[in-house]
Amino acid sequence: MPPAQARRGWLSVTLSGPLWQVKPRPSNPYPAAKNPMHATAARSRPQDRPLDEAPPQAATRDPHPVEIVEGPPASGALILCDHASNAVPAEFGDLGLPEVEFQRHIAYDIGAAAVTRALAHCLGAPAILTRFSRLVIDPNRGRDDPTLVMRLSDGAVVPGNARVDEAEIARRVARFYEPYDAAITQALDRALGAGHPPVIVTVHSFTPIWRGWPRPWHAGILWDADDRFARPLLEGLAGEPGLVVGDNEPYDGALAGDTVDRHATARGLANALIEIRQDLIATEEGAAEWAERFARLLQPLIARAELRVPRSYPTRTRDRLGRPRGQERGRPGGTNP
Ligand SMILES: [Zn+2]
Repeated sequence: MPPAQARRGWLSVTLSGPLWQVKPRPSNPYPAAKNPMHATAARSRPQDRPLDEAPPQAATRDPHPVEIVEGPPASGALILCDHASNAVPAEFGDLGLPEVEFQRHIAYDIGAAAVTRALAHCLGAPAILTRFSRLVIDPNRGRDDPTLVMRLSDGAVVPGNARVDEAEIARRVARFYEPYDAAITQALDRALGAGHPPVIVTVHSFTPIWRGWPRPWHAGILWDADDRFARPLLEGLAGEPGLVVGDNEPYDGALAGDTVDRHATARGLANALIEIRQDLIATEEGAAEWAERFARLLQPLIARAELRVPRSYPTRTRDRLGRPRGQERGRPGGTNP
C-alpha cells in the first residue's frame, strides 16, 4: 500500500480505534498470501450490540467507505472493484460468523483489490474500490435484489443479517452502497464531461472449488450484450499460453442492477467484467503478474476509438416486460460475481 493511501484510509483508522475491523488472515486458505492491510490489523472483540442500536460516534469517525485511485479521464478507462475488502465496521461485530468465514470468498474477492490497484497503476487509469465487506451489503447488486444483504452465503448462515429489516437495509445502503455508487457516477460524469467516455473494467475473483467441483478456468470474462470490449479481450486471452478462460463463465454477465448494468450498460459504455481464480492472485506476486497480463491486453483495446463511443445495446438483464433476469441465479447469494 502506498503511503498516501495508508494516510488517507486504513491504517490511520485501524490504529486509532476498533471502529472498523479489518479482518486478519490467520486461516488464509492460500498461506503464501500477503496483504499488509490485513496483516497489520488489530483484532477487536466482537460486539453483541443489536443492529438497531446507534453506533458510537460512527458518523464522525468512520473512514469513507470508498477508496479512490486518482487518474486522468483521458486514460480512457475506469477500473472498479466491488468486492475489494473483507472489512466490517465494528458496530456490526463479527456478524455472528467465525473468523474463518472472513477469509473466504463470501466476505470479499481475494486478490481483486491488489489486481485493481496494480492495473490502475499500469494503465495510468483511475480506480474505485470498496472498503467494506459484501457481507455488510453487496454493491454489485440491484437495490431490489434479494441478496443485497445476504442472509445465507455458500452454506454459511450470516446471523448478523438474519433479522435485517427494510430500515436497516436502507441504512446500509446510505452508508456504504450509495457512496460507492456516487463515486462511480461522479467519475463517469467527469470523464464524459471532459469528452473522454471510458471503457469500464470491473475486477472480481472466484473461488477455485464450488460445491466440491474444481472449476477449470483460470479466468473468465463476463459481459451482457455489448461485446465491443469483451470479445477482443477474450481473443487476446486465447493467445496466452496454458490458460483456460471462461466466456461468461463462471457466471453469466447479465445480472439486473449489478454495477455494470447500472453504470456501463445504462450509459452505453463499453465494458468487461474480469474474473480471476482466487488462488492465482492471493499473493502480491500473483496479483502483479495478472495485472501486468491484463494491462498488456487491455492497453491496445482501450485505445480503440470504437470502444470510446457510447452506444446502446439491448440488455439481456431484463425480459420483454422489463422484469429482471439473473437475480435468481446462483441462489443463495454470495456466489455470483
Ligand atoms: Zn466479486
